[in-house]
Amino acid sequence: MAAAGVCRSSARGDLEKLYECCSLLCSDLCDRASRSSWGLKAAMVLLHVTFVGVIFLFDANLIRKTREEPWFTAVYLVVFVATLVQYFLTSGSSPGYVIDAMRAGNGSNTTYQRQSNSRNGNIISSMTQNQLERQSSYSTSFWSKLVMDLYPPGSAIRNWTCTYCNIIQPPRAKHCHDCDKCVLQFDHHCVWLGTCIGQGNHCRFWWYIFEETILCVWTVVLYITFLHSEIVKACLFCLDFGMLTISAWADLIRWKDFIAIVLLALLLFCLIFLLLLLVFHSYLALTNQTTYEMVRRHRILYLRGIPEKVHPFSRGISKNLYTFCCPRGSRYTLEAIPRMEELEERARPYTCIDIISCRCC
Ligand SMILES: [Zn+2]
Ligand SMILES: [Zn+2]
Repeated sequence: MAAAGVCRSSARGDLEKLYECCSLLCSDLCDRASRSSWGLKAAMVLLHVTFVGVIFLFDANLIRKTREEPWFTAVYLVVFVATLVQYFLTSGSSPGYVIDAMRAGNGSNTTYQRQSNSRNGNIISSMTQNQLERQSSYSTSFWSKLVMDLYPPGSAIRNWTCTYCNIIQPPRAKHCHDCDKCVLQFDHHCVWLGTCIGQGNHCRFWWYIFEETILCVWTVVLYITFLHSEIVKACLFCLDFGMLTISAWADLIRWKDFIAIVLLALLLFCLIFLLLLLVFHSYLALTNQTTYEMVRRHRILYLRGIPEKVHPFSRGISKNLYTFCCPRGSRYTLEAIPRMEELEERARPYTCIDIISCRCC
């Protein structure tokens, strides 16, 4: 009887979970924004399947090679699946919303990492909610106290309050009009992924571009190999039958070759774009910058007056990479704006001693 009771309760639990899943799916399908997001994802999958599927349909040599050396195609398909998985993971990841960081702070004893960019002093100091309660009367929100400490003394709260969310933005945060939320370390809103890129998913985004670039390079090589074998075949045919006129060549170009040429041109365009994007985001990771900070440097209030060549949040290449690559888990990192004296010191030109001592690292 007891066993039957347990089975019944577990079956009821399963049914409740299934009901919750169905309701979530239904609400997603009813919502226009979610529908367009799912439409975008379906279009991206279809695009990938088309580029990869066409070459397998057209290229008989590739099919023969797959039979002889299955590992070659297996590795290619692993890269293909890994890219799509990375796409969905990045698309579904949170960029790190300011409101979530604020709510996390309202829980008990949440720890924030408050990074100072000083190369000599303490790099990271932690501040807990309890510490803050002791430091100030808790009538003013602990969030405003925490955030305003990151700005230079004398900064006005109203300058950093988002007029849409009505919350105080820490340095490097920006309101995204597509997500309708403020994002920590805002980079950009990616239309292909349907999400913002920020503190929480910038590294994942870099890996997505990297995998997409590898897949694109490999697919371009497959298309070029196919077209090359077609050209060789056509040349041999022409030589055998003495057809050396342009019209004879045009007759030999089949519809398959035409489609392959068009797809190859599109792939090359995508490859150039991906390579540029990969180099650009690698540079951002090495210098601890965001696209928004780089493009709008002169319009961002806290970046005004900072020497042009100085990256204010950079703490050296190795530390920047460590911060970029290592998962922060549930922690939110809030970075303070460095003091002007420190920035001026960093702006001084490199000397031989600086190069030997790896000042940039
Ligand atoms: Zn906002
Ligand atoms: Zn967004």
